[in-house]
Amino acid sequence: MNKFIGYRCSLCQAEYTPDEVQYNCPKDGGILDVILDYDAIRKSIKPDELVKSQEPSLWRYLPLLPVTEPGGEGTTLHAAGWTPVFTPQRLAQSLGLHHLWLKDESRNPTASFKDRASAVVVARARQIGAEVVTTASTGNAGAALAGMSAAVGQKAVIFAPRTAPPAKIAQLLIFGAQVILVDGTYDQAFDLTIQASQEFGWYCRNTGYNPFTAEGKKTAAFEIWEWYQYQAARVGFAGRITDYEERGKYETSTDRPFSARPLSVFVSVGDGNIISGIHKGFKDLLALGWLDQMPRIYGIQAEGSAAVANAYFARSEQIIPVAAKTLADSISVDLPRDGVRAVRAAVQTGGSYIVVSDAEILAAIAALGKVGIFAEPAGATSYAGLVKAVQQSLVSPDDAILVLNTGSGLKDVRAAMLAVAEAPVIEPTLEAVKKVIK
Ligand SMILES: *Cc1c(COP(=O)(O)O)cnc(C)c1O
Ligand SMILES: [Zn+2]
Repeated sequence: MNKFIGYRCSLCQAEYTPDEVQYNCPKDGGILDVILDYDAIRKSIKPDELVKSQEPSLWRYLPLLPVTEPGGEGTTLHAAGWTPVFTPQRLAQSLGLHHLWLKDESRNPTASFKDRASAVVVARARQIGAEVVTTASTGNAGAALAGMSAAVGQKAVIFAPRTAPPAKIAQLLIFGAQVILVDGTYDQAFDLTIQASQEFGWYCRNTGYNPFTAEGKKTAAFEIWEWYQYQAARVGFAGRITDYEERGKYETSTDRPFSARPLSVFVSVGDGNIISGIHKGFKDLLALGWLDQMPRIYGIQAEGSAAVANAYFARSEQIIPVAAKTLADSISVDLPRDGVRAVRAAVQTGGSYIVVSDAEILAAIAALGKVGIFAEPAGATSYAGLVKAVQQSLVSPDDAILVLNTGSGLKDVRAAMLAVAEAPVIEPTLEAVKKVIK
């Protein structure tokens, strides 16, 4: 079935056939949205068939993806996606919330959300017979592309700033990619990668350049949709319960029904491709008629790297670059490459942008750690945003809320150590132990 029928420019709306272009709009540089044939998809599969799939990875959504098969002939890519959702009760209580879920993307094969994009991009690369794939990366996108490429024996060249955290660089090297460290910023590495791919004919995964990354990232929205439907069926909506006594019964229970307001999804934003991808996923489901209510999407940025949030608050789609400075390296971006669609993700869903300080991000790392989730700074940023949203009453206690941890704390232990007090060093005596136990 040919469900991938073309591209549409997110700026000028020009449409292209799948063979006509490969990256951004030739007219204005706008990022292209992938157009799917929704009628054909609807005819080929029903939603209840899709959710019955036994495939525990994002490939359960192959009928909704613009590639024909994972990894190409005879190969399967590592199982990205299908990440767990936790119900962190103590965090929910501390915030006065009743329905807080945390989807842990650090459980992906290379320990970040980026695996979703790279899995689909590598599948595309195999399909078009690309010899080499390449990307610029602050670390995670490169690790994901290198890991997914290694899984199928695809050659990869990764450009990263030399300042990337050592664990991320180690991943690139271990996966056998050719790693090129650029003595400059991520933004400089980004432009260099595009030049190199044009010069050498490589297939470029760059975020906000390759239209297939968002198609991979949208699979998180599909998983959230499956999860939310299941939960809604289980506990129902408070809006449907009119009897107050009936409501009282649920005061302390997780079985308490949630509000009829849309699900709120919290996601950290750097280039803006994850949030755009999640928005695309929900838009696909809406277009298919499989989703009743568009979730509200909240984008969280670090104070020192807030170009998308700035545009959102200025009610503008003009993305003005900043000189990015935040310890959350994965969302440290001067010029967000998917900024326009990232602004729209919040505007068009009734969500918002929220800006948090590095101190708030460190506090979020510590808070998540106390319920057993180890997030890298950019991963904990979304939770820092939720804390602020509660303070500002952007969400209500009975709302259903899902926070994404986008990356593992093991990626950047230096930052993690800033979030906690140092451990005491003692002499090996019981006396010394007595002095330090809390
Ligand atoms: C890339 C990344 C983000 C942000 O995604 P964008 O598409 O750049 O907005 C957030 N968290 C982690 C861990 C990432 O690697
Ligand atoms: Zn255009």
